[in-house]
Amino acid sequence: MEVEIATIGGYEAVGRQMTAVRAGDDVVIFDMGLNLSKVLIHDNVETERMHSLDLIDMGAIPDDRVMSDLEGDVKAIVPTHGHLDHIGAISKLAHRYDAPIVATPFTIELVKQQIKGEEKFGVQNDLVKMSAGETMQIGERNELEFVNVTHSIIDAINPVLHTPEGSVVYGLDKRMDHTPVIGDPIDMKRFREIGREGEGVLCYIEDCTNAGRKGRTASEAVARRHLKDVMTSIEDYDGGIVATTFSSHIARVKSLVEFADDIGRQPVLLGRSMEKYSGTAERLDFVDFPEDLGMYGHRKSVDRTFKRIMNEGKENFLPIVTGHQGEPRAMLTRMGRGETPYELDDGDKVLFSARVIPEPTNEGQRYQSEKLLGMQGARIYDDIHVSGHLRQEGHYEMLDALQPQHVIPAHQSLEGFAPYVDLAENQGYKVGRDLHITRNGNMIQLTE
Ligand SMILES: [Zn+2]
Repeated sequence: MEVEIATIGGYEAVGRQMTAVRAGDDVVIFDMGLNLSKVLIHDNVETERMHSLDLIDMGAIPDDRVMSDLEGDVKAIVPTHGHLDHIGAISKLAHRYDAPIVATPFTIELVKQQIKGEEKFGVQNDLVKMSAGETMQIGERNELEFVNVTHSIIDAINPVLHTPEGSVVYGLDKRMDHTPVIGDPIDMKRFREIGREGEGVLCYIEDCTNAGRKGRTASEAVARRHLKDVMTSIEDYDGGIVATTFSSHIARVKSLVEFADDIGRQPVLLGRSMEKYSGTAERLDFVDFPEDLGMYGHRKSVDRTFKRIMNEGKENFLPIVTGHQGEPRAMLTRMGRGETPYELDDGDKVLFSARVIPEPTNEGQRYQSEKLLGMQGARIYDDIHVSGHLRQEGHYEMLDALQPQHVIPAHQSLEGFAPYVDLAENQGYKVGRDLHITRNGNMIQLTE
C-alpha cells in the first residue's frame, strides 16, 4: 500500500498546524489550525467574516491547495486538542471536505462553538466524539486510534493511523505527565505496544517545541506546588491580588480557584475566554468548580463585578483574568491602563501563571502590560508555569518507545528543528534517508 504524508501547515513556524496522511485510497487530516499572530498583527481584523483565500494569503490558516495532489478520499478530519493553532481553521476549511470531524468530547465542543461563530461558511461536517483508547475503521484496511496524552489543555490525544505498512503516529502536542491535575497520565504503555506490534511504526511526526531544552518537562503537579507556594506566601496581604493564566488551561484555573479559597479569598473568573473554556469544562464534567464560582465574559457584567469587588473589599477576592500575554483587549491589560473599575494600589500583587510565548508581538505586548501594572504600584510574580511540550528526554523516550522507521519534525521553524535533528541523528536517523526535514506544502512518500 502507498503511504504518503502531506505537510501542509506548521512546518515553517508554530501555528496553523495541518498534516494529511494518505494510506492507499484513504486520507486522514490531522489538525486544521490558525496562526493567531498573523491575524493580530493587523488592526481590527475580524476573521469571522473573512474568506479562506485571504486568510491563506495572510499566513493565518493552512494553504490546503496541496490536497488536490493527494489521490484519495478524505475520510476524517482529526484535531488533536482544542488549542487554536490546531482547531482554529476548521471553520474556514472543513466544509471543503466531505468528511466527519473526529475528536475527543472537549475538543468537539470547542470546535462546535467555533463553527457557530463563523459568518462566512456554513460548516456542516458531522462532529464525531471519540475518546482516548477508542478506535475507528478508516476505509477497508486502515484504523484510527486515539492514545491519551497530557498537555496544557484537557482531553488531548495523539492520533495513530494503523495501516498494513505500519502505524503513522501524529505526535503533536504533549508532555509526559504522570501526575496531571486533571485526567489520566500519558499512556506510555500503549505507545510502547504500538512500537512493537504488527509492522511497528512506519512514521512518527513530532512536535519539536522544546527540543533544545535539556532534561524533562515537569508535571502540572509541579506548577501547582509552585502556585501554592506563591499564594501561601501572600496569604496575609490585605490588598488586591489578581491572577492570570491561559484560559484554556483548565487544570491551572482549577488550582487557582482552590488556592484562592485556601487563602480566604473568593475566586472569580473574568474575561470572555475565561468564561468560555471554564464554562465548557464544567458543563462537560471535566472539573468540579464551587457552585458559587462566578464566570463573567461580557464587558458590562465584568465591570459590575469589579465594582462589587471594590465595594466589598479587594482583600476578599481573587480575580482570575485574561491577559497573560499582554493582549491589548484582554482584562489584565485593561486593568493596567486603568480602564476598569478595579483600582490597583501600591503593593498589590499580580500573578502570571504563564510564560511569555517567545514571539516578538507577545514579548512587546507583555512588556507593555507589566510596565503599566508596575506604574500603578503592582508587584509582579512571573513564570508560575510548566510547559505543555516535551523536552529532550521526553523526545528520547518517545523515539525509544515507538522505534519509528521514519521521523518528521514538525510544529517549529527550521531553527527550531535543529536540536531535534541532532537528537534524532544521535539515535541513528539520517537526514534525507529516514529523517525528513520539510516545509509547508510538501509530500513525503514513505512506501510505494
Ligand atoms: Zn497545544
